[in-house]
Formats: sequence, C-alpha cells, structure tokens
Amino acid sequence: MSLARRLSEVAEGVSEAGADLADAGVDWWPLAMVWRHNQQGGVRARPDVVARPTDATQVAAVLSLCSTERVPVTAFGGRSGVCGGSLPVHGGVALDLGALDSLEDVDDHSLLVTVGAGMNGRALEDRLQDSHQLTIGHWPQSIDLATVGGWIACRGAGQYSTRYGTVADMVEGLEVAMADGSLIRTGWRGPRSATGPDLTQLFVGSEGTLGVVTKARMRAHPVPQTRWKAAWGFSDVSGGLDACRRVLRRGATPAVLRLYDERESRRHFGDDAGDDCVLIALDEGDEEVVATTGRIVSEICGAAATPKSDALVDHWLETRNDVSGLGKAVDAGLVVDTCEIAAPWSAVAGLAESAPTALRQIEGTLAATVHASHHYSDGACLYITFAGKTEQPDRWYVAVWDALMRTTLEAGGAISHHHGIGLVRGRHLPEALGPAFDVLKSLKATLDPAGILNPGKLGLPSPFGDPVWP
Ligand SMILES: Cc1cc2nc3c(=O)[nH]c(=O)nc-3n(C[C@H](O)[C@H](O)[C@H](O)COP(=O)(O)OP(=O)(O)OC[C@H]3O[C@@H](n4cnc5c(N)ncnc54)[C@H](O)[C@@H]3O)c2cc1C
Repeated sequence: MSLARRLSEVAEGVSEAGADLADAGVDWWPLAMVWRHNQQGGVRARPDVVARPTDATQVAAVLSLCSTERVPVTAFGGRSGVCGGSLPVHGGVALDLGALDSLEDVDDHSLLVTVGAGMNGRALEDRLQDSHQLTIGHWPQSIDLATVGGWIACRGAGQYSTRYGTVADMVEGLEVAMADGSLIRTGWRGPRSATGPDLTQLFVGSEGTLGVVTKARMRAHPVPQTRWKAAWGFSDVSGGLDACRRVLRRGATPAVLRLYDERESRRHFGDDAGDDCVLIALDEGDEEVVATTGRIVSEICGAAATPKSDALVDHWLETRNDVSGLGKAVDAGLVVDTCEIAAPWSAVAGLAESAPTALRQIEGTLAATVHASHHYSDGACLYITFAGKTEQPDRWYVAVWDALMRTTLEAGGAISHHHGIGLVRGRHLPEALGPAFDVLKSLKATLDPAGILNPGKLGLPSPFGDPVWP
C-alpha cells in the first residue's frame, strides 16, 4: 500500500496532487525565491505527500506511522518562515497544521487563551479583539501570513515586543504531538510554576524538530485604551542606542522603539529624515502607564536628540507590513535578505557598526543597512537589510551569511533574535551553542529516535543524508 493510502487511514486531507506538493515546497526564504525566479533547481524541497489533519489525535497518528516507517515529517503553518525551516528537504510528509484553527477557550479573568496551533495570527487577533476585547500583543510583520504554531516553533518576536515580550513570554502551556505518537501537555497549571525544568520552553524555538505543537495556551492583555507616539532624530546610531538603553534602564517599556541608521531613515521617511538617524517610539495600554512611559522616553530622548513630527510614526504604522518591494527586487535580479541578531548593551553599538561594514566588504554587495528593532533591559535586536547583485548569487549569499554569523559570534551576540535557524543558520548553530549543542543532539535522539521530525534543520544530524545546503 502506498504511503498516501496508509496515511489516509489515520488522517484527513492527504494529497499527492502536484500543485499541493509544489506549494508545500516553498516558503519565504529569499534565496529560494531567487532560484525560482531564475528557474534554477535549488534545494530539493518537494514532499512525497501532504497531509492536513483536523485534530491533534490525527497529527499524533501521522507521527506514529512515520516513526515506524522511517518517513520524514516536516510541519508547516503559514510557510512565512524566512530561513527555509518548513522546506521538506528530505521529502516525506509535509504536515499542514492549518486545519487546527479553533479558538477553544478564553479565560478573561486569568487573561489566558487556548488556541489551535494552525490559527492564523490576524484571524486570532480579530477574534480576540472583536469578541473579547483582548489582544495577544504579538505583531510580527507577517501577522497576516503566520500561524500560532509557527510563532512558537520559531521563537518569534512582534514589533511591540518591548511591552508584550516575545512569543517565549507569551506562551503559558502547550499541547505537543511527539514522534512516537503520544500527546503531551506542558505548563497549563498556573503562572511561573516551579515544577522542574520548563518543558514548554523546550518546544519554543524547536522548529518542528522535537515535536509538533497542536495547541497553545497564550497570555493575553486587555485591548489598549490609549496610544502615545513620538519621533526624534539622532546624529548617529550609537547615540540613539544609548537613549534606548537608558529608557529601558529606567523601567519604561514602550511597545515600540525603532532606531534606523541614516540610510534606512532616508529610505523610510525621505526628506523628513534629513541626515538624522530616526527613532520612532510608540506605546499603548493603560492611560496612566502609557503617560508615564511617554514622559520617561521624552525626557531621555529630548535631551539627546532633535524632535521630529509624530507623523513619522503614522507613516511607519501605515507601511510597516508592506513587503511588495521584495518581489520587485527579485524581478530586478537582486538578492535581498534580512538578518536579525541580538546582543547585550555592551556589544550592541559595536555590532551595529561592524555587521553592515563586514557585508559591504564582500564583492557583489550593493547595500547593507541596520536598524535596532526590539529593545530590552539587557540589550537589543539589530536588523540588518542587505542586497547584492552578482553572476553567482549563491556564492555571494553564503559569503554574506558567513560574515554576519562570524561577526555576531565574535562580538558575543546571538545569531538569531526571532527568525530562527532553519536551513540558513543550521551549520552555524553548533558553534553558537558550543558544548550545549551536544545536549540538543541528545534531546533530539531521545525524543525522536528515528530522526523523522523536520530532518536537515537546526544543524542536527539527519538519518536521511547529509545537509542539503549550502
Ligand atoms: C514579510 C515577513 C515578515 C516577517 N516578520 C516577522 C516578524 O516581525 N517577527 C517574527 O518573529 N517573524 C517574522 N517573519 C518570519 C515568520 O513569519 C515567522 O517565523 C513565523 O513565526 C512563521 O510562522 P508560520 O506559521 O508561517 O511557520 P512556517 O513558516 O510554516 O514554519 C516555520 C517553522 O516552524 C515549524 N512549525 C510550524 N508550525 C509548527 C507546529 N505547529 N509545530 C511544530 N513546528 C511547527 C516548521 O516546521 C518550520 O520549521 C516574517 C516573515 C515574512 C515573510
């Protein structure tokens, strides 16, 4: 009996249709977009079968069957990942979680929401805000594309993370289908429990390699009553970063602090930016909390920078999710990508200088710019945007990523802040984790002895063959 037939006995939505297999073989990884545009083969990423189970029991049954038969299983949600994480590089089953999209429970009193892992981000926010006057507060630029399970699997961060935290802070508990077909729950029993190691966080950021998330209990917040916004122009990035550091040190957590270098300031705000590095600030929530936060930010930034019109914040709000430029760049023969890294305050300013500089030195690079996108009491995330045009895009791409990862590690930074590892950073993870990578390998071997879960990712060894890229 074929794999598809055997799968159909345990799950719904099993398909071998060419269009379904082709769809399941792509995400938003920019290099793969270039391959497609150039009609190059690129990495093999076609599954043999797609399955779209309708409940957690079916998900678990698919994993049990695939473990027994040694078939790779790559989970996917919205396929909005930008690191090739959901590409089924060793074939097998592409597991579509999109049908697990119910909002199961809203406990307004405890501010906890239970939701299926396949729920789309925008759909969840619309339901929560319209019917319950609640928000999760997770606003990734990909809110319209991504799912709750994908947020969790990639350890994502939204644009308002300084107030609401990243997904790691938002998840209270998980239901997870394990490779052997069992279903487990982590957390779910109250806040900040001391019941051994935090098993929920084991799966946050595991990118479908340790288990498949089927349901999540998320922390929620009342829909904000009020909003405050302001903008300033700093003469350089390091001055702006220092102001952000001092804001966080005072205990203020404005939802958004975004500081652009001169080139990005011009790109986003045109002549309104002048020659400055623009910082936009925004907060939302309870009126008194927001007013106090605004006063602290204004006091610190006002003493170090020139005020700008808050229309700049409105402009950002209107355009922040527009990604139409990417398709145009690919059509123009460019490779455009972004890389988010994080570092403690003691290293951030140096890295904001050294990372784009390292990229500009590589032949074929046309531009490398930076903005600081997420800020915390202990450090910040730097978001590097880079573009290149060369006869050998693959070789240039590997060189720029190698340079970025090396520069970040040498500065003591983290090689990803919210996009995750996927294929792109896989071969850098062993160095980034050091001896702790062996712990991750042991966990993988214990939880998934047949190695079926998203093989070829996170730089983990795979029984299905050598790494497929680069
Ligand atoms: C234009 C654009 C802007 C973006 N902006 C942001 C941003 O602001 N912040 C941010 O954090 N990210 C951002 N991203 C990246 C991406 O949207 C996130 O990583 C998102 O969380 C992925 O969710 P998804 O449902 O699309 O996951 P997919 O792309 O389908 O999968 C991503 C990874 O998660 C695994 N996975 C998916 N669902 C499950 C599950 N239920 N159980 C186990 N593993 C699973 C997959 O196997 C894969 O490894 C952006 C992407 C794009 C294209």
